[in-house]
Amino acid sequence: MQIKLRFLGAAQNVTGSRHLLEVNGTRILVDCGLYQERDLKARNWESFDIPPESIDAVLLTHAHLDHCGLLPKLVREGFKGKIYCTAATSEIARIILLDAAKLQEEDAEYKRKRHEREGRKGPYPEVPLYTIADAEECFPLFSPVTYKKPVAIGNGIEAIFCDAGHVLGSSIIKVKVQQNGQERSVLFSGDVGRPHKPIVRDPTLVDEADYMLVESTYGDRIHQGPEDAKNEIAEVVNSTKRAGGNIIVPSFALERSQEVLFYVNELLLEDKMPHIMVFLDSPMARSITKVFQYHPELFDKEMTEHLRRHESPFSFPGLKMVETTKESKAINLIKGTIMVIAGSGMCTGGRVKHHLVNNITRPESTIMFVGYQAVGTLGRRIVNGEKQVRILGQEYPVKARVAKVNGFSSHADKDELIQWLSGLKRPPKKLFVVHGEAESALHFADYVRQKLGWDVDVPGYQDEAILT
Ligand SMILES: [Zn+2]
Repeated sequence: MQIKLRFLGAAQNVTGSRHLLEVNGTRILVDCGLYQERDLKARNWESFDIPPESIDAVLLTHAHLDHCGLLPKLVREGFKGKIYCTAATSEIARIILLDAAKLQEEDAEYKRKRHEREGRKGPYPEVPLYTIADAEECFPLFSPVTYKKPVAIGNGIEAIFCDAGHVLGSSIIKVKVQQNGQERSVLFSGDVGRPHKPIVRDPTLVDEADYMLVESTYGDRIHQGPEDAKNEIAEVVNSTKRAGGNIIVPSFALERSQEVLFYVNELLLEDKMPHIMVFLDSPMARSITKVFQYHPELFDKEMTEHLRRHESPFSFPGLKMVETTKESKAINLIKGTIMVIAGSGMCTGGRVKHHLVNNITRPESTIMFVGYQAVGTLGRRIVNGEKQVRILGQEYPVKARVAKVNGFSSHADKDELIQWLSGLKRPPKKLFVVHGEAESALHFADYVRQKLGWDVDVPGYQDEAILT
């Protein structure tokens, strides 16, 4: 038995997930993600390590950009095989890839104009990494799979997708290989969710695998529990209502926006917060929420129970899904406390900027952060407590209350990862720790050796492993 595994991304860093399996003359790429760390973005422009036309199939774990965001480039450069993923993942990936392509096009145009004005050239070409047309070329290749039903890839290879509990439709993928009467399995964790998260199910426990790749985004941290998030939201809403201001929630379109709605709905049902109007003011979050509504079969017990009782978090009284920019602007005319959930999650663009302009100077309003804020973003500056920030070309003093709600992470922490790994009946021949900053990945590798006594490796970028 000989399987070649190559680590082409998310190896001692978080984004750009890409792993290549070569066996029986077949090449399978697991994820084809975009690099999002500033100092690694140049890799998005490099040519692929292997010719895209020589890849037979792509297995996609989920629809986050750092897992699917380079598919349009792969297809444009010659990939013609199938992209296997769950139906929910393919539906969300369409929305996310079209949005990414639009931003790439706008970005290239903006850069071209700026460089022209300044009479200089930038480090990257002033063309989009890929266009909307490129993204559209991917969609016919999506091939939906069902959880737990093996899919034959060909040449003695099959893949089984199981719920990863990370975002709607997310998967843990086990690849089974037959060669000369022997069988081996390689398990790709994708991004592993947390137990007791709202809406989605808990991550599926896996009982056996010969080799395993595990993510380690929070391999050196312990999170607060999801219940804390709900209580913190209640506190913010109640105190902001008393102060007479608004609650502005910069939020990611996938999962986080729906989770905020889930908790708000429960707080309303439990009479723990006042009945204020709640606006979901993000076209992308609205489209993704529709995908959630098409897939009730993926919901956990609590969410299913809410639907059975006609208490959907996506249609409670007082919730308004905002469509047009005209409607979005009209929100500012409302007197009295309202909550606005709007993109982008780190305040780098989107409608949230307008709501910040209208509320950031008001001491009675609250900017409620529910997600990670990367260094250098407007969101990070506000969270860090800067007294003055620049929004849409103008300076504003930060007078609103800034609240950070913890407990929302959609990645398992180090103990939750250990708990998930402990589902295996016997240790794998080797565990590869990926998808984490070097510090986090190395820390987690040690933690696994210490807690479980497994053989663990932390591969680097472009490393190769031969699995026997
Ligand atoms: Zn993810």
